[in-house]
Order: sequence, then structure tokens, then C-alpha cells
Amino acid sequence: MEPSNGSLLVVSAHAGDFVWRAGGAIALAARRGERATVVCLSFGERGESARAWREGRGLAEIKALRRAEAEAAAAALGADIRFLDAGDYPLVESPELTDRLVHVFRELAPTVVLTHTLADPYNGDHPAAARMALQARVLAQAIGYDAPGEPLGAPPVFFFEPHQPEQCDFRPDVLLDITPVFDAKRKAMECLPAQQHMWEYYTDLAKRRGVQLKRNASPNLGLPHSTMAEAYVRLYPQVTGELA
Ligand SMILES: [Zn+2]
Repeated sequence: MEPSNGSLLVVSAHAGDFVWRAGGAIALAARRGERATVVCLSFGERGESARAWREGRGLAEIKALRRAEAEAAAAALGADIRFLDAGDYPLVESPELTDRLVHVFRELAPTVVLTHTLADPYNGDHPAAARMALQARVLAQAIGYDAPGEPLGAPPVFFFEPHQPEQCDFRPDVLLDITPVFDAKRKAMECLPAQQHMWEYYTDLAKRRGVQLKRNASPNLGLPHSTMAEAYVRLYPQVTGELA
């Protein structure tokens, strides 16, 4: 495989989010030989670990558990993972946390950025993570911002699919074919037993998005297929010399 200069950065509010919503994109980038890095702002220790709380575990134990699960999931996808341990429910926006993200942007020089939608009435941590990711991207572009590294270019930003897309104003304009890596995504999902109820849900979602991908790519011939896909919304305009 030819090495690639691509660098994918995923900014995830909680430890599991990147798996359900962007695992395919991460695995595809890794398989192309690109650097793929997940930054988890928290472990999802308070808000997305209900099973562990019901089992009577304590906060420190739950954080360690979620970290280990997320590390295993990232490894299954071929990604590096970092944890900023900023706390969840609520994930508090702050200049300090945004600055830490600016340092990550400068260090990794991502060529593509994935994060949450800016609206999510079910979970304020997700839009908070998105706002900080977008702000950090802009600050990292400023030559005068005090952080090591070169000013960031203009990596495109894609919002990954929230759990209840209609409520989050999520109308996909990108359908990504993840068929070749779906096995890796499923393995990564199975690294998260704390959220076992999500495995089939996100497998079914990939099938439905796959149907839509086929319909948008070719005539509707009603032929069977096994395409799996993830949906995204692109924030900034596509830049191109040719409409295609
Ligand atoms: Zn989450």
C-alpha cells in the first residue's frame, strides 16, 4: 500500500460516538494508509455508561472501562485515540479545552475533520464538542495563534450522523460506501459491550444508508446488493475545478 499524506481527525464528545457514527470512514482512511486519529473529549462516563452504573460501578472504574473499550474499538478500526478527560453531562465548553484542541489541530494537520452536528436536543455535549472543534479549526488557521506548528490549511468538515437525525436537522449530502470495511466497523462496535443495544441498530442503519447510496449512484433496477454506508453532512462548500 502506498503511504498517504491524508490525516483524518475525529472529534468525539464521548468514548463511543466515533464508532457508531464514523467507524467506516475511519477504517477506510486507515486502510488507505492515512493517519486516523480520534480525540475523545470525555469517556462518556456519566451520560453514556448506564449499564455500568446499574452494575454498581464507581466513576473511576467506569472511566477506565470506557477508555479500554474505546481503545480496543479504535485499534479495530486502525486509528490512534486520545482522551482529553474533560468530563461529560455536561461537557463544558471552555477556552482552555478549545486551546487543547487547537494544539491537536496544529500537531496533526488534519486533511479531513469529522465531528458531531451543531444541533442535538437530546444531548448538549454533542453540539458543544462540535462548536469547540469548529472554533479550534478556525483558530489553528490563524498564523498569529500561539500554538506550536504551522497554520492549519482548510480541511473539510463533515458532521457524522446523530442518533435521531431528523431532530438534529441532519439531512445527508454525502453517502460514504463503507462496504469494504464494514467487518472492521462491526468488530469495533462489538468492543463496546456497555452499549450492546446499539450493535444491531447501527448495522441496520448502515444497510439503509447503503440502499440510499445505491439509489443515488445508479438507476433503480431493484437488484439485490449488500452495500453498507454512512451518511454525512458537509459544512463548507466543496472546492472543485469540475462539476462531477
Ligand atoms: Zn455521545
